[in-house]
Amino acid sequence: MIEVQDLTKYYGNFAALKGISFTVEKGEVVGFLGPNGAGKTTTMRILTAYMPPSAGKVTVAGYDVVDGSMEVRRVIGYMPETVPLYPDMSVFGYLDFVAELRGVPDRWDRIEDVLDRVGMLERADSLIRNLSKGMRQRVGLAQAIIHDPEVLILDEPTIGLDPRQVLEVRQLVRELGRDHTIIFSTHILSEAEQVCDRVLIIDHGQIVAEGTPQNLRDRLQKGGRLFVRVGRADGDVEALLRKVPTVREVTSAETGFIISADDNVGVRPAIARAVVEAGWDLLELRPLAMTLEDIFLELTASDEDTAEPEPEEE
Ligand code: ATP
Repeated sequence: MIEVQDLTKYYGNFAALKGISFTVEKGEVVGFLGPNGAGKTTTMRILTAYMPPSAGKVTVAGYDVVDGSMEVRRVIGYMPETVPLYPDMSVFGYLDFVAELRGVPDRWDRIEDVLDRVGMLERADSLIRNLSKGMRQRVGLAQAIIHDPEVLILDEPTIGLDPRQVLEVRQLVRELGRDHTIIFSTHILSEAEQVCDRVLIIDHGQIVAEGTPQNLRDRLQKGGRLFVRVGRADGDVEALLRKVPTVREVTSAETGFIISADDNVGVRPAIARAVVEAGWDLLELRPLAMTLEDIFLELTASDEDTAEPEPEEE
């Protein structure tokens, strides 16, 4: 449904996208995840044919975003980070305006359907200026789906909402995902995990990882970390642990040691044997759980403070 090949975008001399490639299949909900300034909005604007790429090829439903920009706009519904709403219009009036602009047939019926879908039917006559931020986001979603597009591109649709509204909008996106192909950008990992089938992690204009949330976790956890606690040791535990095959790094922690190994499954029996053979007690040997948050921070190491804190999974 969406094919992106070697997409590059320059703003002047600055490369905001450095040759990214990915595909999105029909019906998928794909999370576009990255810290501020990663290039998410730039990618979305190119996908929606609002801005041309500097180089590379992008097609949506078979249409090229440069040569077939009108067709692309027809098959895509776009919800930008800030939806341009007119505060003095009613919800119905605004959607009527957008629907007319996009040539929606039987538009009054369609507006009713869409308002029902986003749970705003009762607010049809409200002025946009009197709506809460969460309700405005719903109107933003309504305008994105009014022309019944196959593909939805949603740029951080939950930003600035209170926790209840965030849950409502996520739920709505999940529902829309049943019959739409969706790209959904966020800088909150747990959100991508809840809403998306697959995640692309983007940083500094490049895709640094891709997979299902579970898949990403498994892949990164394979070479993960272990916690080891040894009792009755009458020698140098750290030196012994360092000699165990595939161990890369040993760091002393308060009550034990943290080990990084290339193979954290195979290394476990090897550590157990080494400790027991030395005549010491192995009191603890456990993998340190890596949350998607840890993975994200590891992959986007120079961008701190962008991920939502999440409780430790230990
Ligand atoms: P955010 O979550 O903050 O919106 P983002 O991942 O969407 O971030 P982009 O908005 O795509 O990131 O920006 C990518 C980079 O390109 C940033 O460094 C940004 O400063 C730069 N940039 C974006 N738009 C322009 C522009 N019109 N002119 C110059 N630089 C720009």
